Amino acid sequence: MSSLLSLVREDLRTFAGYSSARRAGVTGSVWLNANESSWRNPADGGLGANRYPDPQPAALRQRLGDVYGVRPEQVLVGRGSDEAIDLLVRALCEPGRDAVVVSPPVFGMYAVSARLQGAPLVEVPLVDDDTGFRSDLGAIGDAALASGAKLVFLCSPANPTGQAIAAEAILALARRLDGRCLVVVDEAYGEYCDQPSMASWIDPQPNLAVLRTLSKAHALAAARIGCLLAAPELIAVLRNCQAPYPLPSPCVQLALAGLSEPALVQTRGRVITVRAERERLLHELLGHPGVRRVYPSQGNYLLVRFHDAEAAFQQLLAAGVVVRDMRASPQLGDALRISIGSPAENDALIQALASGRAAA
Ligand SMILES: *Cc1c(COP(=O)(O)O)cnc(C)c1O
Repeated sequence: MSSLLSLVREDLRTFAGYSSARRAGVTGSVWLNANESSWRNPADGGLGANRYPDPQPAALRQRLGDVYGVRPEQVLVGRGSDEAIDLLVRALCEPGRDAVVVSPPVFGMYAVSARLQGAPLVEVPLVDDDTGFRSDLGAIGDAALASGAKLVFLCSPANPTGQAIAAEAILALARRLDGRCLVVVDEAYGEYCDQPSMASWIDPQPNLAVLRTLSKAHALAAARIGCLLAAPELIAVLRNCQAPYPLPSPCVQLALAGLSEPALVQTRGRVITVRAERERLLHELLGHPGVRRVYPSQGNYLLVRFHDAEAAFQQLLAAGVVVRDMRASPQLGDALRISIGSPAENDALIQALASGRAAA
């Protein structure tokens, strides 16, 4: 057994999962094996939704592989990257024993999945210094080894704090934890980042995996398409743990159309706009008397500390501008997270903040 498969729960290593009608590997022209209707619904519109969908559509895997620079067999497509996070925790962590390491304040789904699985959660707080927040990868490695963790989640660019982690540092951590722990880099905001993806390191360092999503820069949050990029043998195991038909055909079609070359050209243009707006908003906010600190960001959002965050939040709400209240998160008792919108939306935000006195 490879050292990578040794990270999978022992009871699941040979688990074959549900043998669905679409996985049987048979072909034919008269399909009577899945109790489907032979007729299309009157509302079908050419979709062919009377038939169960391909669990992992080859065309979508291929396209995602092209876009992210990996081979199709290194791609697991799921219902958002949230599903991939959940699958990883379920397949790798024995309840009550195998820990998950995270660095708060961070995206909450890692902790939610760990909690649902009964996996111990080990928290190594982000360090807040002059340059912004940063991960303490040495402490993360120590904590992973000390707790016998199976999973480390790194968020880069990090939500909500904005920083990215250097590739060499991630690789050093993965090498240190080789054979003991899977290091998962969540690149949900990778399109907005100056740094290249870690995906090209999956082959030389198989205990490294990457999460990507179509929910952010690709503007397809409602399609619920995300993926895990990882070693093929791990992808195969996770496939057996996944729901039989995870991807609705209309969502697959939308994703394929949304990843066509012309669509990608537009997406890249919008990423350029968002990055420019991020800089504009950063400077506008720095000049606001109610603002204590704005963190530099590699994502499509800014984390902002206010002298009176409650007043700023209410003032924005009163103007119809909804931002994310981060005050319940550790170290963020005075912070709001502001997504970068269209230029007009960002103007509305700036205006709403400027017009009130409360936050000043
Ligand atoms: C938004 C976000 C996701 C995306 O989740 P989906 O399930 O793909 O919509 C994943 N990770 C982080 C850190 C996020 O902020």
